[in-house]
Amino acid sequence: MKLVVFKRRADAGRSATGYRIGALLDDGRIADLTPEFLGSGLSHADILKCWDLALDFLTPAQRAISDGSAVIIERSDVSIEAPVPRPGKLICVGLNYRDHAEESGMAIPASPIIFSKFSTSVIGPEAAIELPVGSSEVDYEAELAVVIGRYGRNIPAGDAMAYVFGYTNINDVSARDMQFADGQWQRGKSCDTFAPMGEFIATADEIADPHGLRISFRLNGETLQDSNTKQMIFQIPELIEFISRTITLEPGDVIATGTPPGVGFARTPKVFLRSGDVSEVEIEGLGVLRNPVIQRWM
Ligand code: ZN
Repeated sequence: MKLVVFKRRADAGRSATGYRIGALLDDGRIADLTPEFLGSGLSHADILKCWDLALDFLTPAQRAISDGSAVIIERSDVSIEAPVPRPGKLICVGLNYRDHAEESGMAIPASPIIFSKFSTSVIGPEAAIELPVGSSEVDYEAELAVVIGRYGRNIPAGDAMAYVFGYTNINDVSARDMQFADGQWQRGKSCDTFAPMGEFIATADEIADPHGLRISFRLNGETLQDSNTKQMIFQIPELIEFISRTITLEPGDVIATGTPPGVGFARTPKVFLRSGDVSEVEIEGLGVLRNPVIQRWM
């Protein structure tokens, strides 16, 4: 199932109670599954951190779609939000594609390089990436994001995929000037709007092999990254084992698994995001994550 978190246009601007959960149908419309979700004992607030409990609601949700009882909403009547609007942890993996490590002039890492983005950087599809005052080198990174569905610590690689709820697109937007001036990456990676995500979570059963997906990035329609997730140095089970050895993973945590070659700062000439640009991340089976870019003035 392709799960979306959305608000009805009529509810726009309201707090967390405005969030609803639905399935993106093949015809582009949305089946509102909020009643089925709430019927399984969850609250509106749970929609934002539900990804372990949601497994219990998928069957009634599928039934509601099949038997026609789910309310179907036109896409133009909703705003689709990030599928995990405020992840408990947004964990990123640096230099996890062999070619990207090479283009960055960095050695191939011997173990995963882990860093984080603050969860307030998350925005949904079609929301604007805002270029902050103080940076003129804002870059893009198309990445496959893994949404965790169960609590776990010390998860062996052999069991790790059972902890994956699903997958979505993420853009690990990065202010390179801040990132490199600071000597560590937190500020340049965590600016507001720097983690566009979505537009849906494909539940794990939808993606037969997450290590065989075409992944690309387009800027104003021009393809600047075009690779395949099979190029990852550390695959998802190894990443989950490595992270959970010391950090508890919780439902709704998101792991961005690294970006392939072609990022802007490594190009000749360099390419950075400019106001008016349109950014698109596309991963096979996960749709397109599209975001306009605007300049922020204060
Ligand atoms: Zn990244």
